[in-house]
Amino acid sequence: VWVRVKNVCKQNGLLILSVLAVVIGCLLGFFLRSRHLSEQEVKYFQFPGELLMRMLKMLILPLVVSSLMSGLAALDAKCSSRLGLITISYYLWTTFVAVVVGIVMVSVIHPGGAAQKEDSEDSGKPIMSSADALLDLIRYGAPQNPSPYLAESTTRRSLIYGIQDENGTDVQNFSLDLTPPPDVILRTLPGTSEGMNVLGIVIFSATMGIMLGRMGPNGSALVNFCQSLNEAVLKIVAIVIWYFPFGIVFLVAGKILEMSDPSDMGKKLGFYAVTVVMGLILHGLFILPSMYFFITKKSPIVYIRGILQALLISLATSSSSATLPITFKCLLENNHIDRRIIRFVLPVGATINMDGTALYEAVAAIFIAQVNNYELDFGQIITISITATAASIGAAGIPQAGLVTMVIVLTSVGLPTDDITLIIAVDWALDRFRTMVNVMGDALATGIMAHICRKDFIKEGEGPPPGIKPE
Ligand code: ASP
Repeated sequence: VWVRVKNVCKQNGLLILSVLAVVIGCLLGFFLRSRHLSEQEVKYFQFPGELLMRMLKMLILPLVVSSLMSGLAALDAKCSSRLGLITISYYLWTTFVAVVVGIVMVSVIHPGGAAQKEDSEDSGKPIMSSADALLDLIRYGAPQNPSPYLAESTTRRSLIYGIQDENGTDVQNFSLDLTPPPDVILRTLPGTSEGMNVLGIVIFSATMGIMLGRMGPNGSALVNFCQSLNEAVLKIVAIVIWYFPFGIVFLVAGKILEMSDPSDMGKKLGFYAVTVVMGLILHGLFILPSMYFFITKKSPIVYIRGILQALLISLATSSSSATLPITFKCLLENNHIDRRIIRFVLPVGATINMDGTALYEAVAAIFIAQVNNYELDFGQIITISITATAASIGAAGIPQAGLVTMVIVLTSVGLPTDDITLIIAVDWALDRFRTMVNVMGDALATGIMAHICRKDFIKEGEGPPPGIKPE
């Protein structure tokens, strides 16, 4: 038995350390909470965790750009369009399923109390119209600065939703103006200021990759460069990964130190949180793995075991973009997925496929309607399902981005956007669970795509690259 335990520890050392780190982080966080540290002390304490986030973020851009460019350039046109079409359709489908799960859960559990029709005048004024939000999403898809390292920050978008002038009036059309007017008071929603325009980068890199593929030998210099860059990033990930357990302790404990008193949370809010978590469990642990099983006829449990490290990181960081390098490594080394498939399916998924976020947006919007005694008709429920899907696509893979894009869902059915503040108290915790489901959705999709496209790749490509086991 001892030898077996030793072997398990040896093979899963890092994973075990990471789980321990989460537990120690929680204990340490609650212990230090009772010590009432000053703001400055909390900041110092959070530094090792901040460092982990910075290192992960540093890797996102080179990874996304090199993966998509080299991945798409290596596929021939037929193969890439087939893979692209199946992947995007699958992503939209699972997101929509997640929204439906959310709507069913919130309607059955009814966390917001009894619903009664009320005067629509009482529903608040939208800060930003759905049309503006949609235009903003498209705007980010077409970055004006193609250099990924100087890509526009999503700060601008996140600020739109929370800007008031000194009289407390909401300022509209700010999205078109990069410099805030001097008399504007900025209220940045938590965690949204450090995002980058990953959507724009994905679209730019994918287009470049397709064009490089069409250029044949003329494009090979850049393709080789991207391949080397991709390899180098993964080597850096292999080093950074050893810092994780240490960083996670401080990341988790630091968050616990920051959170507001749980007793402030009302009963309804508690029910709301339970509804979201139950929906996420249903979608992440049953529906998505079942889809994987039915399509591939392989064990989802074995597959999920291979990505546990990535799931833990998503729990600790609340960011699917920051988790991307780890998911990449897990799929490549533990689940032996063809590198060419990962390079395309994963970065695209991390940008547009957020099942957890979509589910949460639908639940939150209907919860806000229930709290306001606002009865939603069938058309409005359909509108919520469509806008929640769109809002999850538009959300960046950063902490609490979903909270910001929820404005799109709320305004589409005339619900008060100010009521987002109702759910802020528990959002930091729910964000962790929905990010896990987001990462799980991308990883399972990559396995499914590898299965569906396996014949294309053996027939038309050069076969699996060296060191990668064929399926
Ligand atoms: N934190 C989520 C992610 O990174 C996005 C969100 O729902 O806020 O995937």
